[in-house]
Amino acid sequence: MAALALVGAMTAGCSSDDLATDTPLLPDAAGGTVTMKTTITLDERASTRALDADGKKTFAAGDQIAVIYQNTSGETIKAVSAALTTDDIDATNAQNATFSVSLTNPKASTPVRYIYPASRAAETVVTTTAPNDDATIKYDALATQVGTFDKIASDLDLSVFDGEMTAQAVLPAATLVNPLTIAKFTITNSATDDITNTVNSLTVNDGTNIYIVKPSSLSTIYVAMKPTSGDIATTATTTDSKTYFKTATGNTLAAGNLYSISVSMVELAIGNVFCSDGSVYASKDAATTAGKTPVALICYLGNDAETSPSNTAYKHGLALALTDANGGNTAAWCSQMTALCLTTQYKTEAEVKTDMAGIANTDALVGHATHTHDAANAARNYNSGSHPIGTSEWFLPSGGQWDKMITASGGYETLRSKASLGYKLCWASTESSPQWALLYWFSSGSWSTDLKVSKRVVRSALAF
Ligand SMILES: [Zn+2]
Repeated sequence: MAALALVGAMTAGCSSDDLATDTPLLPDAAGGTVTMKTTITLDERASTRALDADGKKTFAAGDQIAVIYQNTSGETIKAVSAALTTDDIDATNAQNATFSVSLTNPKASTPVRYIYPASRAAETVVTTTAPNDDATIKYDALATQVGTFDKIASDLDLSVFDGEMTAQAVLPAATLVNPLTIAKFTITNSATDDITNTVNSLTVNDGTNIYIVKPSSLSTIYVAMKPTSGDIATTATTTDSKTYFKTATGNTLAAGNLYSISVSMVELAIGNVFCSDGSVYASKDAATTAGKTPVALICYLGNDAETSPSNTAYKHGLALALTDANGGNTAAWCSQMTALCLTTQYKTEAEVKTDMAGIANTDALVGHATHTHDAANAARNYNSGSHPIGTSEWFLPSGGQWDKMITASGGYETLRSKASLGYKLCWASTESSPQWALLYWFSSGSWSTDLKVSKRVVRSALAF
């Protein structure tokens, strides 16, 4: 399978030749609040903002920058410039402008960051955060996008300068550069048909950052991302309710560049397997034959795979680990039976099937301060915690998730055969009372409860 094809990085070198030459004004006196001017130039490379007729990114009246600096007490402070007036902008080249900013007790020779536009700076900057820390920029705005260049230009435009206050505690002149990379996706299926305009959900996951894009009939899908290198997993759903997946390996997406990326995606089906390297094969045997290490069996496809509000990225389906957690040993659900462990309890079989929060349940149980939850911990730590890129962490499936996986797989007898579940009693992360938690019994295909301190089989799941 072809990896992402990177075609035609966008171009044009920086143009700082025409950097305006105004010297920043010195503050009138040391200490106190001073208003200083600094000259800013926009790097024309990789412009994300509306471009002028010459293809340059330019300043407009009303624009503001945020300045993140350190004061003489060593605190990091955010200041926002006055809005640009027409007179502040270089009349012959609107890539240059002079901003006025008021700083209080700025410290000489310390790190300083400019963020343009100012609206992309974090609302609140913690005084102990370094100015050049990612936390000073609203990167979370990248998490959900719609896939158009126009929307990136209007909502996600970002230019940054990282430098130092001068020895006189004056803001340096600077050229701002775009710290983001922009990927322009086209999606094909295994028959090499271009299906981009049928994609209604595209999740891009580089192992650290996740971007959820909701396009509507787009022939190309633009995604603004932080620079990355290595593996990138993409998951897509289409208007005809198909689910696609692909992990591309060994790519570098650098800041300030636009990449055209064509992804040849694999349509997922129940019974496919995820392998440790992020590849997908038709079955466990097919993966093994290809020399891969299959780790999880796809048992359910659907965007209601995990409905807890904490899960926004992994809403395309569920996969079950191919072996038991905890080295095959049984484990207790909880160390005690006198107190509730989760916020919601489910008693009847009908209720149990509505619990679709295995990730949230497992997060809560693993993080519990006063009880120990061996089964949830074993589920989370399956395969030493290692899981394919593009999938959630391992978790103990809830009652509703077990039910969906069993039903979609064709019944409990089919699933126990495909996933080597034998006649085991497997814990669910669903709680019923202070004493009881839920089990699925694969010998009879039925639900049961057991005392939380009982030791039962732990089988992990992934959402993707
Ligand atoms: Zn507990």
